[in-house]
Amino acid sequence: MKTFLRLLAFAALAATSPDIHAQTGAIDWQRVEAESMEHFQAVLRFDTSDPPGNERAAAEYLKQVLEREGIATKVFELEPNRLNVVARLKGTGKKRPLLLMAHTDTVNVDPAKWTYPPFSATRNGGYVYGRGTVDDKDNVAAALMTMLLLKRSGVALDRDVIFLAEAGEEGTTRVGIQFMVQQHFSEIDAEYCLAEGGSVLRSGGAIRYASVQTAEKIPHGIMLTATGTAGHGSVPLETNSILKLTQAVVTVAAWKPPIYLNDTTRTYFTRLAAISAPSEAARYRALVGSDPKVAQDAVDYFAKSDPRFASMVRSSISPNIIQGGYRINVIPSEAKASLDVRLLSGQDPEAFLNEVRKVVNDPAIRVEWIPRDVRPATPSARLDSEVFKVLESAYARLYDTAVLPTMSTGATDMAYLRSKGIQCYGVGPALDTEDGPKGFGAHSDQERILESELHKFVRFHYEVVRDLARAQ
Ligand SMILES: [Zn+2]
Repeated sequence: MKTFLRLLAFAALAATSPDIHAQTGAIDWQRVEAESMEHFQAVLRFDTSDPPGNERAAAEYLKQVLEREGIATKVFELEPNRLNVVARLKGTGKKRPLLLMAHTDTVNVDPAKWTYPPFSATRNGGYVYGRGTVDDKDNVAAALMTMLLLKRSGVALDRDVIFLAEAGEEGTTRVGIQFMVQQHFSEIDAEYCLAEGGSVLRSGGAIRYASVQTAEKIPHGIMLTATGTAGHGSVPLETNSILKLTQAVVTVAAWKPPIYLNDTTRTYFTRLAAISAPSEAARYRALVGSDPKVAQDAVDYFAKSDPRFASMVRSSISPNIIQGGYRINVIPSEAKASLDVRLLSGQDPEAFLNEVRKVVNDPAIRVEWIPRDVRPATPSARLDSEVFKVLESAYARLYDTAVLPTMSTGATDMAYLRSKGIQCYGVGPALDTEDGPKGFGAHSDQERILESELHKFVRFHYEVVRDLARAQ
């Protein structure tokens, strides 16, 4: 079945213009690698862990590198030290701009867990170690190098290419993407965007496929509040709020919202089936098939064995906070549970809330929204776009692999851009699936990237942007 994906990869290759290698001959990739590593390490060495973020030094470094190259660069700052950097290469305007977005902040670290200091960017055994190596300073370095290489090549562009190194992605989006979208949108407005959220998956050293993020679920929060009569603990009451709440949580957690596939998840599971062992492939096909009973069985299986797949095909609820009671001998009159809700983008939130009320079906329980920084609901990025075709072709050419479009169960900053009509695609370097369980990965105890894969990703990024932007 591997042939199926090979064919996809070949089809993608054939779809590009015949002169795809015309520009690459001019680039000395060995020198580019040395330069990429220099910038990558420099950016990794700024401690931008968020909170507090403090992206100023990293932002100023990027600005200085871009300006030294003669690329017009601006910074935008809502709060002190939370700088967003925007640079622009001008095109003829024949096509609308392409935005390259990456975030300079990282999640926090526990330095005791690190073999090498987390902001040292230590190189060892073919790896670079440091917080941000795969989230998201790899994309920062790739976008930066793409800007520099495009500028140096002098190639005429049909569209502007915009660089955005944003602050605050890891939990303080008000100073980053929200600020840029709400107050400086004209600076980053584009037809297409490339950002984080994708990767090339490798296991046992062999590439399985490239994932490109084209959709994501929308986070919401629901509060269940149970009320009952307070009383002495020596006289149990059936109206005990903790009892009522517990029953409601169990009921709601057992509820199975309808299975729904969009373009992205349908294509994802179809293509995943084509490269999987027969037993797994049968379950992936069951998800996209027409028999709801078989599909439900597959989802039940994934809920245990691979819960991410189960979450990808329906809106989901996870009870994550429970509060109630304060003394061993008092029956409390109130108890609360906070539900983390992730809606499929097509799901109407109010209809979902009403469904939850029906499922709970208890007048002693209030079911209400929890105010949450709700990212906008957005449709998937198109799979028939110019960008998706160029990505498929570049993955075929440079990685000899096909692309599976993916939907994140979590939220990214791309939601804000998609809500403004920008078609966003999440990309990233090759990662070994074995690295996660070893404790290396985004948001993990430690983080690292293979040097060779950083360099390959820079080249991939540059060639994708060149093919999308240069004058035809
Ligand atoms: Zn990230």
